[in-house]
Amino acid sequence: MTKQTLDIVWLKRDIRLDDHAPLYNAELSSNPYLIIYIFETSIISHPDTSDRHLQFVYHSLLDMDNQLKYYNRSTTKFYAEAIEVFGYFEEHYQIGTVYSHEENGIQKTWQRDLEISRFFRKHGIVWKEYQRDGVIRGVKNRDGWDKNWYITMNQPIIENSFSKSSIAFSNPFPLPKNFLLRVQKYPKSFQPAGSTNAWKYLKSFCEKRGHFYHIHISKPRQSRESCGRISPYLAWGNLSIRQAYQFIKSHPNLESHKGARRGILTRLKWHCHFIQKFEVECAYEYRCINKGYELLQRDNSPDKLNAWKEGMTGYPMVDACMRAVKQTGWINFRMRAMLVSFLCHHLDQDWKNGVYHLAQLFLDYEPGIHYPQFQMQAGTTGINTVRIYNPVKQSIDHDTDGSFLLKWLPELQKIPVQYIHEPWKMTSIEQELYDFRISHDYPAPIVDLKESGKAARDKIWGHRKHPLVKQEQQRILRTHTRRQKTTD
Ligand SMILES: Cc1cc2nc3c(=O)[nH]c(=O)nc-3n(C[C@H](O)[C@H](O)[C@H](O)COP(=O)(O)OP(=O)(O)OC[C@H]3O[C@@H](n4cnc5c(N)ncnc54)[C@H](O)[C@@H]3O)c2cc1C
Repeated sequence: MTKQTLDIVWLKRDIRLDDHAPLYNAELSSNPYLIIYIFETSIISHPDTSDRHLQFVYHSLLDMDNQLKYYNRSTTKFYAEAIEVFGYFEEHYQIGTVYSHEENGIQKTWQRDLEISRFFRKHGIVWKEYQRDGVIRGVKNRDGWDKNWYITMNQPIIENSFSKSSIAFSNPFPLPKNFLLRVQKYPKSFQPAGSTNAWKYLKSFCEKRGHFYHIHISKPRQSRESCGRISPYLAWGNLSIRQAYQFIKSHPNLESHKGARRGILTRLKWHCHFIQKFEVECAYEYRCINKGYELLQRDNSPDKLNAWKEGMTGYPMVDACMRAVKQTGWINFRMRAMLVSFLCHHLDQDWKNGVYHLAQLFLDYEPGIHYPQFQMQAGTTGINTVRIYNPVKQSIDHDTDGSFLLKWLPELQKIPVQYIHEPWKMTSIEQELYDFRISHDYPAPIVDLKESGKAARDKIWGHRKHPLVKQEQQRILRTHTRRQKTTD
């Protein structure tokens, strides 16, 4: 019996219907095609992944299905290894072409891609991969990278159209019941998933929300409203960077808010800049960007690590940020940087001890940004200025009235505002007066900031003189420059 010919669009971090080259090219071909997403068992059990990511993906697919209904299409969702899925297709169909975006992911997904590529070659299956956003595969250095980025961003948006499908496909690897139960629920405290919501957020940012973007960007409370909040949509591909770039650039309401517009457009470039670093060396998930820092000895106290993870360090801004991100999946850049800085410098922990914890909590987890940024804040790149944040100063400067702290640390509500940033400074009489006991109602500070800050500075700057660190600096500069300023 002759097998039915079929093309496949393999969705990865590109769960949307517009500005989508794989879908566009599948539509151009005369073969019928299926749109698939694979919840890959070995990939989703990697320690970077959490239920909130899977829920976001699942609900993004439902949003896509809703839009595809008219065309008698929907995404086919598999629960299996990619090799099993393509093995099944190969056995039962004549696969023409598989279309996908390039995945700028972790080592594990890269190795899976190599395995799939070998499989396709063996069976004469064509795999067409398209560039994801402004990230270029196979570059050896950054010559001409910026120029290319602008060219890509200014190219016309791909306007996808869809034919009606008549394929009847019976899924041999459907989502198991227990997995469905995990992903079907969607906590209200997270940003809602899918392209429809992505556009709502992007529009509200441009129309009004983002007009004071650059003024509030460092403030943990105000930034929740005035930042773009498009990161989960970009990370899972509900929006392309080009869609966001062109929409923001030409939005009339931002004409008179040039600081805001410039600020967010610059960061869209940083998005690709960081992923490009990771695309060149995805081993940054496991090892220091500057290998010389692998030799740095850390205290790695498990109690301190746990206190950080639980938001119980006794430093209100650290604890409020950790609890906010646990509950909502988002905090602003500065506070992410502060959390990592506190972990690695003040608590003297190896960055690897905390990197998956935050990866799991960030709804916008994007490996290409997460690992390089984490290491920048941990001071293990050897080329960036090491910034050791003082959480009390951050708190006083950026949440002066303590409203963010009070939202996330209700136990501090009893105490006068003047002590909110440093509750341990209350005398025992005051503690009695306000019925608030430090170490009982809220932890005492886990470290002495002055001492831990000095020790950290001596350690990290001292290590910069190590010959291996210096040698590595040269290699990193050759590969990843032009360097960019990426603080707020
Ligand atoms: C330790 C650490 C880990 C991080 N992990 C992630 C991550 O996993 N995923 C992620 O998207 N961002 C990450 N960031 C970068 C940044 O904090 C978030 O992109 C930003 O807070 C997202 O909110 P927004 O969409 O409102 O950003 P906006 O300020 O509105 O910016 C718009 C977009 O630009 C990009 N962007 C903004 N700031 C940066 C930056 N500093 N570097 C690179 N791209 C940027 C993001 O795609 C963002 O959505 C991390 C930062 C740090 C310090």
